[in-house]
Amino acid sequence: MKTNLKERVRRKLLQFGRKNKMCSMLVLPVLAVSMFFFHAMAYFAGNGKRFSMLTMILCLFVVYSSFSFPMFISSDGREVEWDLADADSSVELAPESDLNLEDVELLADEDALGELEDWNEGNPHGMDGVDTYDASELLASLEGRGNGTERTTQDILEAYESGELVFDTDDWRLVLINKQHSIPDDYSFTLGTIVGSLQCDERILDDLSDMLQAAKDEGFTLQVRSPYRTPERQLTNFNAKVNRYMNRGMSYMEAYQLASRVITLPGNSEHEIGLALDITCDTFADLKQEFGDTDAGKWMAENSCRYGFIVRYPKGKEYVTGIDYEPWHFRYVGVEAATVITKQGITLEEFWQELESN
Ligand SMILES: [Zn+2]
Repeated sequence: MKTNLKERVRRKLLQFGRKNKMCSMLVLPVLAVSMFFFHAMAYFAGNGKRFSMLTMILCLFVVYSSFSFPMFISSDGREVEWDLADADSSVELAPESDLNLEDVELLADEDALGELEDWNEGNPHGMDGVDTYDASELLASLEGRGNGTERTTQDILEAYESGELVFDTDDWRLVLINKQHSIPDDYSFTLGTIVGSLQCDERILDDLSDMLQAAKDEGFTLQVRSPYRTPERQLTNFNAKVNRYMNRGMSYMEAYQLASRVITLPGNSEHEIGLALDITCDTFADLKQEFGDTDAGKWMAENSCRYGFIVRYPKGKEYVTGIDYEPWHFRYVGVEAATVITKQGITLEEFWQELESN
């Protein structure tokens, strides 16, 4: 039966080669391989020992090739060579989806820094080489700015609930920019100078000035950095982050995935339209989550809405924003919207959903 089949295959192939001269070069290697296969089968088929040897070799091959996959990563985040003698608890299964907050913290550690000349230490937000100014310098520069008037939180909430206060999703202050929504092609704005090299949308300068003054009156010296960033700067920051993760042994996909959780993609950052500011204070200048636990951080989370700002990436809303908690990243949306968003404890994404469903 086997010989018959082998003969038939041989004949068919030779026939094919004769009929199609063009393919005759191709037929020879196919013929050689199939003849080898038949010979090998015949060699092993009649001998139990040989057959089990072959099965073992095949099993070893399958096992070995699955272990050469980068799925075994040691607890310090580095990929390790699979070694049967070393198969103890120091090796754990780390699939790609297992990237959690601890990983981000780990990678923000200073041991990973210094790979870039202008990397700002302790800065997971990716704003290297950006000037920082504190509130007194900003206020001196913004003198004469400010609205002076303030609608109370209660007024705004009541007006919104009664339907007297209506929001329009076309309002520039509410523009939604995230991983799914890039900056609209026709979006335009004018840059205003806060102080020195710090710039932002000039329409928010009055409210910013009021907020810095109010914080100062409460005893907090806020620091502002990197409000407006060019798309080029954003791209440089993003690529630098991806490279750093790859230098730590991650694949490009893993590095990209992780980087996009801590730095927004170029073209999808509110910093590029001058409506976002990174704010910390003189006693805690790092862009780290612990800023949220400082008195200044708490005051900002509570009161920035009175000046039109929201904590854009709140804790517990990572599943909505796709960005880790950033107590320092404030987004201007205008006093009314900021008040509603903050008091309802929602995100800009959820606010948009609310407006669209109304
Ligand atoms: Zn930011």
